[in-house]
Order: sequence, then C-alpha cells, then structure tokens
Amino acid sequence: MIDFTIAEEKNRYRHTTSHIMAQAVKRIWPDTKLAIGPAIEDGFYYDFDHEGTFTLEDLSKIEDEMKKIVKEKLPVERFELPRDKAIELMQKQGEPYKIELINDLPEDAVLSFYRQGDFTDLCAGPHMENTGDIRAFKLLASAGAYWRGSEKNKMLQRIYGTSFPDKDQLHAYLTAREEAQKRDHNKLGRELKYFTTADVIGQGLPIMLPKGAKVMQTLIRFVEDEEARRGYLLTKTPYMAKSDLYKQSGHWYHYLDNMFILGDPEEIARKKRGEPCDESEMYALRPMTCPFQYQAYLSEGRSYRDLPLRYGETSTLFRNEASGEMHGLIRVRQFTISEGHLMCTPEQLESEFKGCLELAKYMLDAVGLNDDVSYRFSKWDPNDRAKYEGSEEQWNKVQDEMRRILQHLEIPFEEVDGEAAFYGPKLDIQIKNVFGKEDTLVTIQIDFQQGEKFNMEYTDADGQKKFPYVIHRTSIGCYERTLALLIEKYAGVLPLWMAAEQARILPISEKHIDCAYEVKKKLQELGLRVEVDAREEKIGKKIRNAQMDKLRYMLVIGDKEMEAGELAVRSRIDGDLGTMPIDALANMLLEEVRTLKK
Ligand SMILES: [Zn+2]
Ligand SMILES: [Zn+2]
Repeated sequence: MIDFTIAEEKNRYRHTTSHIMAQAVKRIWPDTKLAIGPAIEDGFYYDFDHEGTFTLEDLSKIEDEMKKIVKEKLPVERFELPRDKAIELMQKQGEPYKIELINDLPEDAVLSFYRQGDFTDLCAGPHMENTGDIRAFKLLASAGAYWRGSEKNKMLQRIYGTSFPDKDQLHAYLTAREEAQKRDHNKLGRELKYFTTADVIGQGLPIMLPKGAKVMQTLIRFVEDEEARRGYLLTKTPYMAKSDLYKQSGHWYHYLDNMFILGDPEEIARKKRGEPCDESEMYALRPMTCPFQYQAYLSEGRSYRDLPLRYGETSTLFRNEASGEMHGLIRVRQFTISEGHLMCTPEQLESEFKGCLELAKYMLDAVGLNDDVSYRFSKWDPNDRAKYEGSEEQWNKVQDEMRRILQHLEIPFEEVDGEAAFYGPKLDIQIKNVFGKEDTLVTIQIDFQQGEKFNMEYTDADGQKKFPYVIHRTSIGCYERTLALLIEKYAGVLPLWMAAEQARILPISEKHIDCAYEVKKKLQELGLRVEVDAREEKIGKKIRNAQMDKLRYMLVIGDKEMEAGELAVRSRIDGDLGTMPIDALANMLLEEVRTLKK
C-alpha cells in the first residue's frame, strides 16, 4: 500500500501515472514527441509536442488506453546508459526534447531510464514497480505550455491529470474540485459581471464593471472611514515619479524588474540592456506609495509631538508581473490598495504595530475572512545579502524586536527566511484561494532604514535630532484580490452590506411597475441599493434570473401587495418571509447592513 501522507510516495505514485499517460499517448499517436511529465501539487502533467490540441474526446481515448496499460500489469524497470548510448536510444525513439535534456545535464550525471512494456522514458525516477499499482486516476484538462516555460520556445500541449490510491479518494477530490471551479472568481466573477478583460487593454489589467466597482467603492469607503476613526491622515500622491525618487528609496536598484519605466524609448532600451544611459528624465509608475508619503512627512519640520504620524492613502499601484503569473483579479498589473505609513519613535513601535494588526483583524473580520488566514513572520535571508540593505547586526536586532512583539500579541505565526522587504522584516497575513493557492493578503512591515535614508529627522524631547521607525502596512489587502476571495468564499452571494445590488423588486405585471419604482425610490433614499426588473417576462423567469444573479433579497409586487402597501419578501438564505410593509422591510435590511451580517 502507498502512504499518501508522505510527499515522496505521493509523487512517486502520480509520476508513475504520468508515464502511463505518456505511454498511452504514444500508442495512439506514435509521432507525438515527449517533453517532461512531473508530479505536481494536486496530480501530474505531461507536456507533448503534438499536432493540434487534445480535445475532451482525445482525453477519454487516452484514459481508456491507460486503463489497458494498468490491466497489463507491466513491470517498471530501471536501467542506466552512458551518454552516447542514451542519446542513441532517444534518437532511435525520435525524442528530440529528451536529447536536449540529456545535453543539458552535467558531464558526470547518471542517465537513468524507466521501461514499461513498449515504452521507455528518460527519467530520474523513482517509480512504482508495476503499472498495475495505479488504482484510480482521471485526466483533468489540457492546455498550451511553452517548452521550458519560455515564450521564445515552441508551444507544447500539456495534459493535466491526477491519481489516488482508491476510487473513493479520487471521487472526493473531483467533487471538491468541481465545487471550487464553480466558485472560481475568474469564472463566476465574469459570469456575474463583476469584471471583464480586453486584449486591447492588456494582460493583468481588469476592467471593473459597475457591480465590481460598486463593491470596491463600498469596501474603500468602509476602510477610509475606519482609518480616520483610528487617527490616520489621508494623503493623495502622484502615480509616478522621476528615477531620482526610486534611487533614494532603493527601488531603482532592488525592484526595477517589477516597475514600468516611462521616458525616451532609446534610453530605456539602453538601460534594459545594461548599457550606459541617461536616467535623469526617466520616470516610473509607482509600485508602492512609501517614498511619496515620505515627502508629505518632509513637507515641514517634525518634533516628537508630531509622532506617531499615521498616513493612509487609497493607492493605485503598478507592478510588472510576468505574463504567466496573471490570474483574474488575484494577480494583476494595476491594483488598488489601502496603503499606509506610520512614522514613530522606538518607544511607540510596539503599540503602533499592535494598532496595525488590530485594524487588519477588524477588517478581515468585517468581510468574513478572519478564520481563513495564517500569519507569516517574513525575515531576510543572510545568505542572499544583495537582496537586502543594512547590516547583519541591524537585521538581527529588528527581527528580535519584531519576534518579541509578535509573541506579546499572542498570534500563532511561522517564521520564514527570505521573504522580508529589502528594508526590513514583515508580518504577512496569508490566505488560500479556492484552489488552495496561497497569497499574501495583508502585510505589516517594520522599516529601520528609510527614515534615515530620506533624512526624515524629528527633534526629540531631549532636543536631539533622531530618525523615526517607519511601519509600512495595508489594512485589507488590494481590493481586486479581496473581491476575488470574497466572490469565492461566498460563491457570489456577498454579504448584504457590500453587495452591489442589495435587493431586486419584481413587479408581477405591467400595472405594478409604477409602484415598483416608487418602492425603489423610497428604499434608495434610505441608502439601500435596489433595482427593478421591469422586463415583460413571467414572474417565474424574473425570480430565476435574480437567483442566478445571486441576489440576497427578491421583493415581489402583485395586486394583493399593491393594495396593502406591502411587499412579498423572498430571502436567498431564509426562504419565503411572507409579506412585509415597506418600512419594516427597510429596517430589516438596514439592520443587516449596519451589523455587517455575513
Ligand atoms: Zn519518470
Ligand atoms: Zn511602504
């Protein structure tokens, strides 16, 4: 029996399944060329150089052939060859990608092969001993993938699959996957018209449609109001700056690959080739707000009485993510974030850090993501000094200080090396999306360097000039990513307080339409977001549409309701609530909004 709780065992099992798949493909299409076929997080894939794409019918044909190979119970045999013989074998089998792989291996590498019946593959292993060991598998999808992940190479055809020790586990996995796919914001968010994308605008640049924009606006207002209550001052700073600013902050040296540069194209081309160039007239779109808000701090002389100084800004940022990384609203090249920088004295560091964490927890709780997060204490990597600024002594000191604060706050955290910002360590609040992929949602960073670098001195009580600590923080994570997570978490049925459309009025026939608009006006004046479905459709169809649009409340008006001045209320969560007078209904909805009910 295979022990799936051990990663190596799981990988051995699934990688064997990928060989069986490749064998099946070669049996059906002998001219197809093999590239690579590793085990991955949830299964395995194999890349093929194949004429055309693999259709769903092709996949089921391959599955049938795989079943035969499993039934044949072919022993899997390992053997080694010297380099020239290995190349000869792969030439004979007509596998140019394998020859390229062999040529790239170091001179002294052991070249091992695995053979099962009529199929032999260059492979480091390990494998199961017999094709009959594989009990349950499923091919999931096919997609294009560049050879070695580079757009400069040929596009290959990748087939994804998975396998499990028994049918029940496979079935459970497939059911969970189906549910996740239904919730996938990149699908559901488009279907529900939260956002769209356009080739002519570009990758990673989503267009927020009225519904998505409304949710974002609601969240932004909520955050801005809460920050104001907690003593934050609002700034509004430029989207771009000269290279000079980023040189001072260090971004020009540590972050340039992720930045969009503007200016004379020839100078920029020289810069990208690493040749001497004139950078004085180069601008860059901001990847973060820090050095801009420092200029607000620097706009006047500061004394200890000004500290702590908390700046907040609803910031639009630009980061040049690799094109393969882009995904819906989760990974984008332009995004909106509540970014803030706090300048404080060493004595204030702990309480300010605590305030940032409390604010983030309050926000996560308000949107309902608090139970889904984990905490990561991200430290520098002392073996990769070029990535960071400051001395080892400084890093150790500030990391010890941060660990002490985190322990004081009694949050469970794991420590990770190599994930710090170049100017200091950070606390990352991590969250997994519906497919289990982890991302950072909120970050709180302690910066012991930029205060001095930007000469942000203040006069202390003792008359001495000193430099403040800077805390870089976000309070809810970028709004696009947060919206994506919320769509997935609530399967499109967002809590009422943030929903773009909080209720829809459904007049049964034409004579109820005027009354429906009167009700809409009344509810709108109370601050509720309500629409009327005035189409000439049967009421049954209007109800079905409202359900598909994931509306929380449907308000039906017919003769009876019109006469009584009431509405028939249907709640998606609680079912049929009977008829209610408009005022009672309004109070119920407003209460649900006020209490941020999930
Ligand atoms: Zn293998
Ligand atoms: Zn910052």
